[in-house]
Amino acid sequence: MEHTKRMRDVRSLTLDDIKAVLADLNQPAFRAKQIYEWIFSKNVCSFDEMTNVPKTLRDELSQRFTFGVPTEIVKQVSRDGSRKYLLEFPDGTSVETVGMPSRNKLSVCVSTQAGCAMGCVFCATGFNGLARSLSAQEIVDQVHHVARDFGERVTSVVFMGQGEPFANFDNTVTALRMLNDPEGVNIGARHLTVSTCGVIPGIKRFAELPEQFTLAISLHSAIQSTRNKLMPGVRKYTLQRLHETLQTYVEKTGRRPSYEFAMIDGINDTTPEMDALIDFCAGTLCHVNLIQLNDTPGSLLKPSPVHKIETLQRRLTMHGVETTIRNSRGNDIDAACGQLKQKRVYLS
Ligand code: SF4
Repeated sequence: MEHTKRMRDVRSLTLDDIKAVLADLNQPAFRAKQIYEWIFSKNVCSFDEMTNVPKTLRDELSQRFTFGVPTEIVKQVSRDGSRKYLLEFPDGTSVETVGMPSRNKLSVCVSTQAGCAMGCVFCATGFNGLARSLSAQEIVDQVHHVARDFGERVTSVVFMGQGEPFANFDNTVTALRMLNDPEGVNIGARHLTVSTCGVIPGIKRFAELPEQFTLAISLHSAIQSTRNKLMPGVRKYTLQRLHETLQTYVEKTGRRPSYEFAMIDGINDTTPEMDALIDFCAGTLCHVNLIQLNDTPGSLLKPSPVHKIETLQRRLTMHGVETTIRNSRGNDIDAACGQLKQKRVYLS
């Protein structure tokens, strides 16, 4: 067992690393590409599945490397077809991942950290603090897991699960590139969305990336005092600075950020809140997603009534702000991030 623990995860190798290993084993160079494709395009979990690779070489590789894929601990299936997973990595760390099918598409919501340090009050994950950041491979593993479970190609990925992606910036960007790689998962950059709660240094770095990845901001209030209460972890990144940074982002990239606004009864659905959101957005390039807060048992925060959500959409539209009312997928399966993991803690 000790020996197994020390073996390196084969998915941490680059194509050049695999070439070097095969040269060491006196194997022809073309095998490197074959093996790379099995791992990163065909998404296999064992050397035995590499059917065009000689058995002796497969055995040789399995003596040297392991596949550190996560184990599915819990799966919940929603009436709307969404599936939510609790996945455990070999070191015992677990995260939540959601697969959301619609027509010919399959979206995945991935976690970038196990737990989260940001402490947003509407979020079960923030309640327990941060365990650790995930590696790029662990982020991508979640996408592979969902693809395998649905037996379908993943068409888009949102980095909106547990964790603040920009608190794990380098691994997030590496994961984005692995998902975007035409030789790998091959998802178009515009279909890869990173959601931050407004970590300004991260937004600035994100603006420097050459790829057309999509940026989403968890806004949830455009009034500073409300936002400080809802999202204490980004208190120091004021709304004024956030607004300026986003305008610079738009000028630099020409890309349209989206703003996520989870509507909470009596908190951010009042007339002053609506006015402030309109001020924040009007005249800028953005798209607002209004989401009715999940109704979490035991939470003091309740979802806004539908008529308020529709009023806000109407008012934003009148001010020229593109707005979508988004369904909160998987309402019946603890789909708000952190709930599945918390329930497991409570049940165990
Ligand atoms: S909403 Fe996101 S950023 Fe906020 S505490 Fe939860 S996981 Fe962290």
